[in-house]
Amino acid sequence: MGNVTESLSLLTKSLPHKVELVAVSKFHPSNLIQEAYDAGQRVFGESRMQELNDKQNILPKDIQWHFIGHLQTNKVKAIIPYIYMIQSVDSLKLLQEIEKQAKAHNKTIRCLLEIHIAEEDTKNGLSFEECIELVNSNEFKEMESVSICGVMGMATYTSDTDQIRSEFKKLKNFFDKLKTDYFKDKTTFSEISMGMSGDYHIAIEEGSTMIRVGSLIFGNRDN
Ligand SMILES: *Cc1c(COP(=O)(O)O)cnc(C)c1O
Repeated sequence: MGNVTESLSLLTKSLPHKVELVAVSKFHPSNLIQEAYDAGQRVFGESRMQELNDKQNILPKDIQWHFIGHLQTNKVKAIIPYIYMIQSVDSLKLLQEIEKQAKAHNKTIRCLLEIHIAEEDTKNGLSFEECIELVNSNEFKEMESVSICGVMGMATYTSDTDQIRSEFKKLKNFFDKLKTDYFKDKTTFSEISMGMSGDYHIAIEEGSTMIRVGSLIFGNRDN
């Protein structure tokens, strides 16, 4: 049994059934993704369009690819034919491009609204205010080819677990508010994507429905 198979098996056994695991394979080679696939994993996360395109081309077609990195509008078109979910929607402009390309391909694309919850301003995402503004806009209300499935967020990179917990709580509360005020009748609005290798335990305690774990499965990356 390879390391990936073993780490994956340990992790999946420890997860509550209702929590979905996105195996973050960015910067790791396709043979390791194939190993995880052979062990039963079908959901993978990538953060760069070109890398994802290359991997998608050679790996099994029933993989559910999640885009989790910052996505430039000019890169949307390339991933639309096969992407399962775009977790990193951080502007109305990006969502409009996804809507346009999804429509052109006669598809509906699942999206998460990425919310900035961390202290660092280096991390992407909409502020709470920007997100409310987005869902209130007429442009948003007229969209037909995107399905908003919930929110995504990243906590501050810190050893202060109280801080991490409070950031996850904020995201959970904001999800609940969005659900009540804007997505009450939408059963698809159900996902809170939070938790990575270092903090997924806390995220699950705070209501995560989807964790994005890379290094714990595939080992360390160079960046
Ligand atoms: C890289 C990345 C992850 C996975 O991080 P690990 O610490 O390796 O588990 C999760 N989410 C996002 C948005 C990422 O960019």
